[in-house]
Amino acid sequence: MVQAQHDGRSSASYAEGFERVEPPLTERTRAYWTSGADGILRIARCAACGRFQHPPRPVCSRCRGRVLRSEPVTGRGVVWSWTVNRYEWQKDMPPSYVLAEVELVEQPGLRLLTNIVECTIDDVRIGMEVEVCFARAGEAFIPLFRPVVP
Ligand SMILES: [Zn+2]
Repeated sequence: MVQAQHDGRSSASYAEGFERVEPPLTERTRAYWTSGADGILRIARCAACGRFQHPPRPVCSRCRGRVLRSEPVTGRGVVWSWTVNRYEWQKDMPPSYVLAEVELVEQPGLRLLTNIVECTIDDVRIGMEVEVCFARAGEAFIPLFRPVVP
């Protein structure tokens, strides 16, 4: 069972001091972007071979199965790669912040492009254990990751 609560912290939601831009919600991406409404991350998974696939596509990259379902994952992962953005690409999203690829524990190579939050830039390390939290953006819940507190 996937838990929506995280190590005694009260919520999987993450409040930021700015408004994020709502991503386009399409037939293919809506399940991913709205999954966090109940605090649980869900990823497209092939019904035939069980492989998780992200970003969501209509065909499984391993077995060519055409039935992919949005399934809950633990929301746990590690920082696989990261960098710091210091440019103000978006007016309301102040730099500097960490852009990272987080590899989820469910499957090698299952990675999300995200931000690391609730820690300083100097604290971010490759291999750091992180867990999902969500920032609201219109109808969407943007998956962000924060360090796992032991
Ligand atoms: Zn498959």
